[in-house]
Amino acid sequence: SLPLGERIVAAFGGAVERRSVRAVDQVDLSLRKGEALGLVGESGCGKTTLGRMIAGILPPSDGALAIAGEPVMTCGASPRKTTTRVQMVFQDPFASLDPRMRIGDALAEGPIHHGLVSKAGAVAYVRDWLGQVGLEPDYVSRYPHQFSGGQRQRVAIARALAMRPDVLVCDEPVASLDVSIQAQIINLFLKLRRELDLTLLFISHDLGVVRHLCDRVAIMYLGRIVEEGPTHEVYADPRHPYTQALLDSVPKLVLEEGAEVRFKPIQGELPSPLAPPPGCHFHLRCPFAAERCAVERPTLRPVATGRRAACHFAKTDLNIITGSSSSPA
Ligand code: SF4
Repeated sequence: SLPLGERIVAAFGGAVERRSVRAVDQVDLSLRKGEALGLVGESGCGKTTLGRMIAGILPPSDGALAIAGEPVMTCGASPRKTTTRVQMVFQDPFASLDPRMRIGDALAEGPIHHGLVSKAGAVAYVRDWLGQVGLEPDYVSRYPHQFSGGQRQRVAIARALAMRPDVLVCDEPVASLDVSIQAQIINLFLKLRRELDLTLLFISHDLGVVRHLCDRVAIMYLGRIVEEGPTHEVYADPRHPYTQALLDSVPKLVLEEGAEVRFKPIQGELPSPLAPPPGCHFHLRCPFAAERCAVERPTLRPVATGRRAACHFAKTDLNIITGSSSSPA
């Protein structure tokens, strides 16, 4: 409902990788300014590919990205041209830092190149960004090996933010860190969101982290978005059987006395994206699959205000005629 000028819109028809795998298929997502959207799914579902396309690292075979109504990437354009407006933080902070480069130089390089700061002002600029992410400003003269894993991830976040991006794409940024350090980095994201009005696409397989950090969540399965909506609503009342299965597969930490541990792994395995099943991609693993599911692809359609789901039988609160009265989710 917001005017386009306040939104970041990504619509990608497909990403062609080796052997023509369609890793991302007909995805369209929009992010409001200042919003955090969690992108969740199993390993291999296409979420990293989608994040890399939005960040301009991987060219889509079809699609476009618009920020505040202005197209910043379309199919065929050089993806590198878009990277200053969308920055990415990777899972492995070690790999994203040049071991031979002092942190001060690594953080100043991009902003100087793109005219965000002068050479004379670069040291003060970098010191300020280190402070923003909770590091000592004097660390400008250190090398990556002199930092712990958590500190390196803070450096990687500072380097991305120093480019003053419109959108920050974070691909599993805490997955390689110890649990106690994970909490510190999540709290850092919460602080940065508050103070900088960050617009965040947060890619994760961890439903708990996404619940903590994100306003909205999009669930991805085999290259497609299957459910999307406000995080607390989707978690409390999932409308797609895959979302329900994902939520059921998480061990619950807090149990009422005498309660049974509910931990139901999702049946079957994620099919190969080289040969995705026809119809609904989830039908081979879905406990509610009907005949039409094997042949007819469900579209991602509104099921409640601000919510969409791609299931023929998804329960809807809206006055929409659906294909069946049965309601698996
Ligand atoms: Fe399950 Fe059919 Fe819905 Fe797919 S469309 S999620 S197979 S009920």
